[in-house]
Amino acid sequence: MIREPLIFELSDQEKSAFLWPPLDVPAPKEKLAGLPLRQEISDFPQVSEPEVVRHFHRLSRTNYSVDEGFYPLGSCTMKFNPKVNEKVAALSGFTGGHPLLPEDLVQGNLRVLKWLEELLKEITGMAAFTLQPAAGAHGELTGMMLIRSYHERQGHPRKYVLIPDSAHGTNPSSAHLCGYQVIEIKSNEQGTVDLAALREAMTEEVAALMITNPNTLGIFESNISEIADIVHQRGGFLYMDGANMNALMGRFRPGDSGVDVIHLNLHKTFSTPHGGGGPGSGPVGVSEKLEPFLPVPVVVQEGDRFRLDYNRPYSIGRVRSFYGNFLVVVKALAYILALGSQGLKEVSGIAVLNANYIRRSLEDVYYLQYTTPTLHECVFSDKFQRKYGVNNLDIAKRLIDYGLHPPTVSFPLTVHGALMIEPTETESKRDLDMFIQAMRKIAQEAAQQPELLKEAPHTTYVRRLDETRAARQPVLRWRPEGSDRE
Ligand SMILES: *Cc1c(COP(=O)(O)O)cnc(C)c1O
Repeated sequence: MIREPLIFELSDQEKSAFLWPPLDVPAPKEKLAGLPLRQEISDFPQVSEPEVVRHFHRLSRTNYSVDEGFYPLGSCTMKFNPKVNEKVAALSGFTGGHPLLPEDLVQGNLRVLKWLEELLKEITGMAAFTLQPAAGAHGELTGMMLIRSYHERQGHPRKYVLIPDSAHGTNPSSAHLCGYQVIEIKSNEQGTVDLAALREAMTEEVAALMITNPNTLGIFESNISEIADIVHQRGGFLYMDGANMNALMGRFRPGDSGVDVIHLNLHKTFSTPHGGGGPGSGPVGVSEKLEPFLPVPVVVQEGDRFRLDYNRPYSIGRVRSFYGNFLVVVKALAYILALGSQGLKEVSGIAVLNANYIRRSLEDVYYLQYTTPTLHECVFSDKFQRKYGVNNLDIAKRLIDYGLHPPTVSFPLTVHGALMIEPTETESKRDLDMFIQAMRKIAQEAAQQPELLKEAPHTTYVRRLDETRAARQPVLRWRPEGSDRE
């Protein structure tokens, strides 16, 4: 593979992308006087137009995306999102609606917010929703703030939050940020919450239990109602991390099982791409008890009019500017309306079927620590391959040579050498088979030519990185040879 030079290396002072005609009007210097203008940009790359276009185009082709192929990052739900929803969100009435316009002029947009809230209530069985949080972890923090406010109103915020060891990594951080100390609850042999351990830890100093369901092993916490009872008996709240709702939609409503707070990831389940740095949305649903504490403003419907209510004395206040990431809300609404309740049920069915297809097709060559049936993802480990000196990272890197994105590695922490695979419902059987074939071939290579894996990837532009150094001492700036300039 030919190495793509840095744009600075292509630079030649003689070149320019455009040829400007000579200035035939007064220079704007006076108008700009006093502004912090840069006098010159040294080492600014000088390249021709085709050079710059081709340089960036070639670089873009070294990237990988859901539009290109299978992206099985477990826990991340990297699924394909219908393009038509991007069109809907780009309608000028949505993109042109300034957030400071008077309510009279944005009745349709307020209706969109209310409408999605109502649909999410129906999908989850919760009493009310806020669409303000901008991501999953932001939703968690919001949810914990609601719980803390409630307890404070009762006279005591309490001290601890219980979190199972199979929870998503953001859960303990959110509880901690909200001023709580985290107590970890160990899983049992089935990979679910150990009820005896929970009973013992659940005291009147515990504000809430934060549970990821299905948990990070992809296992459904089937004792969820009993778990809710144990937590409620001591006056605590049950927080459910619902980022994995694509495994449950149309089949299980958390609100019906005693869940008090839930966050969803619209940028996983509901038609906004996840990753790539775009905006997300982590709506939070609550039970009636917590509704008065929701962030302001709340969209209120009176007859067929909509208004924003700021007069909420118990509210935790704002958690985001304006009303959250509105265009993500538009896409989620379009997606839910297009699929309908039957369609959402099919989504969860196929997500689970696809994950189990992969699981059954690979379980003879990759070790499964937990044999409990799983929902939308499955977690293997490198245990069978370790005897050849091959680990999960080597397997992941080798997949890149087969033109596939690797799964999540080394998470969850409860499985040593984890390979966490989430196919999502949007993959065809053909693509799943391609992945399975590659994984089986790699298992064979691990036994026969382990050195091939240790040095993978072989076909990429950048080979195996020293990941620690890349994170701690990244080279972000090009310096000309011999220059000591920063
Ligand atoms: C992705 C994810 C989160 C965090 O969501 P962000 O939007 O990345 O903050 C939380 N919990 C679970 C289970 C997730 O999969």
